[in-house]
Amino acid sequence: MSLGRTILLKMADSPFLNRQATQRAFVKRATRRFMPGEAPEDALRAAQMLKAEGRGTVFTKLGENIVAMADADAVRDHYLWFFDQLAASGLDGHVSVKPTQLGLDLSYDQCLAHMRTLAARSAAIDKVFWIDMEGFVYVDRTLQLYRALKSEHHNVGLAMQAYLYRTQADLEGLMDLHPIIRLVKGAYAEPSSVAYPVKADTNRNYFDLADRMLQGAAAGQCTPIFGTHDIDLLDRLIARAKAHGTPDKAYEIHMLYGIRDADQRRLRSQGRTVKTLISYGNAWYKWYMRRLAERPANVWFVVKSALG
Ligand SMILES: Cc1cc2nc3c(=O)[nH]c(=O)nc-3n(C[C@H](O)[C@H](O)[C@H](O)COP(=O)(O)OP(=O)(O)OC[C@H]3O[C@@H](n4cnc5c(N)ncnc54)[C@H](O)[C@@H]3O)c2cc1C
Repeated sequence: MSLGRTILLKMADSPFLNRQATQRAFVKRATRRFMPGEAPEDALRAAQMLKAEGRGTVFTKLGENIVAMADADAVRDHYLWFFDQLAASGLDGHVSVKPTQLGLDLSYDQCLAHMRTLAARSAAIDKVFWIDMEGFVYVDRTLQLYRALKSEHHNVGLAMQAYLYRTQADLEGLMDLHPIIRLVKGAYAEPSSVAYPVKADTNRNYFDLADRMLQGAAAGQCTPIFGTHDIDLLDRLIARAKAHGTPDKAYEIHMLYGIRDADQRRLRSQGRTVKTLISYGNAWYKWYMRRLAERPANVWFVVKSALG
């Protein structure tokens, strides 16, 4: 892992820096590159513009590792309200949640209960209910949550991380569920005992996992979603899909708002299914630091924003 990435991910865990950054207007200005605004209405408005270009959306309210169950209740209630907005909007829009935002650190059972409520509401309006994958310590419990929800509702998706050694076995273990998987490289600081320390190995594993998912899709066994901005990797996977006879509509490409936007539009105009993940809310510090860590050169945007 590069030194810049390591330092930025360590800074993500500092409550002091969190307080400092969120009070600074120039940092808030810099986050606008990756989020249209803090209010859910900002996110919905941006999604309508993407819809005009044929792009779908995945929404997430920022926040993680809540420390009181009342906060998890509030997140559940927020999303119930948000589903009503989605149903009225006519958007091809879906919701993605973090288990620790719904109380996983406090109670597995209550987190599951909240997720059940949200998955049922999401299913009722015919949307995919997405579960993000967080740090390594949550993987077993997140897989358990996924199994429980997927056995109740068809439209539940799970993020899996290519940097983890265990993901190949985890993916095979889910195949009996006909899973919907968003494959990502992985955004957290993990030790080399559990995750590939060298990016090239993560990329290789990503390709192998994605290839397995495309084969599964050709056999009607799983729905692959490629959550990456790595265009070279995507080009190779698109060619691979053709080789397996996996139809274009059997897989999707998801990217983050504000990243590789021209490529998102190009892929869409070439007939691919593209969805853009839009984040909103005021708990953006940790999430923003992970975006900086993915490309440490992004720190210059913060500096520029401070100067102007
Ligand atoms: C839809 C979606 C959902 C995600 N969900 C999760 C999740 O649940 N759990 C999880 O651990 N991670 C998640 N991630 C983050 C993911 O793990 C990676 O950290 C992130 O996508 C960067 O990796 P990459 O695949 O784009 O490849 P990289 O090799 O890191 O990047 C490829 C190229 O994309 C561009 N790029 C990538 N990141 C940035 C950036 N921040 N700013 C500017 N340009 C950039 C650069 O041009 C870079 O060269 C998600 C990512 C996406 C797109």
